Amino acid sequence: MTTPSTPPESTAPAEPAPSRGSVDLTRYAWLAIFAAIATIALKAAAWAMTGSVGLLSDAAESGVNLVAAVVALVALRVAAQGATQRFLYGRAKAEYFSAAAEGAIIFVAAAVILVMSADRFIHPRPLEHVGVGLLVLVAASVLNGVVAVVLMRAGRRHRSITLVADGKHLLTDVWTSVGVLVGVGLVAVTGWHRLDAVIAFLVGVNIIVTGISLMSESISGLLDKALDDEDNDAITRILRSHTSRDVTFHGLKTREAGQEKHMNVHIQVPDTWTVKRAHTYAHELDEELMRAVPGLHAELHVEPISDPASYDDIPSAEIPIYPDSSIGRTSPDRHRQDTPPAQ
Ligand SMILES: [Zn+2]
Ligand SMILES: [Zn+2]
Repeated sequence: MTTPSTPPESTAPAEPAPSRGSVDLTRYAWLAIFAAIATIALKAAAWAMTGSVGLLSDAAESGVNLVAAVVALVALRVAAQGATQRFLYGRAKAEYFSAAAEGAIIFVAAAVILVMSADRFIHPRPLEHVGVGLLVLVAASVLNGVVAVVLMRAGRRHRSITLVADGKHLLTDVWTSVGVLVGVGLVAVTGWHRLDAVIAFLVGVNIIVTGISLMSESISGLLDKALDDEDNDAITRILRSHTSRDVTFHGLKTREAGQEKHMNVHIQVPDTWTVKRAHTYAHELDEELMRAVPGLHAELHVEPISDPASYDDIPSAEIPIYPDSSIGRTSPDRHRQDTPPAQ
């Protein structure tokens, strides 16, 4: 958990918190790479021993992990470089390219597996040394499971979609391997050799499903998807607690960019407030928001509450702040003119 302590107008080239976290993230990406290499070696050995395309398909899924881990490492390094003169908003979205590339590679791996499984179904072949082969598969799966948990915990702690995605993917690989283990075991017991091809086909389909969900997640990120409901609720709760006769809000928008979270909102303050007072108010609100949503970058737009122009700039799509949709939508002064003052 890191709460940025530098004010938004700080002249520092990058906030210290993200770069400190990125050292850890790079380390985890290396862990994923070594785990993938070890897993591929073990599963490929199991395939060579048994001649099972089911085991080969499992090895191919680990090959996808290796490519994904390398792309993730590159993306994390790029994202950690912070803002530059050319990329003034930083490159936090580099993570999404990693997930998108992983999805694309997954489709290629799945196509190869599906073709091989069809071929093996037409030309079935008996398996050899199934017992030893499956023991090697168990060893690879235990390694995968441990690394998956480490990656997911680190990813959640550092708000990295790449690490969480890698960890989740490794964990589904463990379940895939369990399915392959049972299936190949059944081939040995029943002697129905075509079952091996059926297993490989099912693994191939599973790889495609994984690829689709990974790509849709990263595309949503590139299209500036809103923050999740939990974060949006935390933000609107704070804005409502600051709402009074003097201060209202409208035009709340949120979005995620890799590890970063962003929000925009307009604050209507009394026309008579000085710039200094409004600025202090906005800064204190900013700090409260950052405490509630770690990693949040807030853009706060201050406007006079009685000026009709303040209500001409409400965006066409926004996150509702109040259950009563009339609050913050029109000048309270104009509203007061319509109704006789209560004496
Ligand atoms: Zn300021
Ligand atoms: Zn406005």
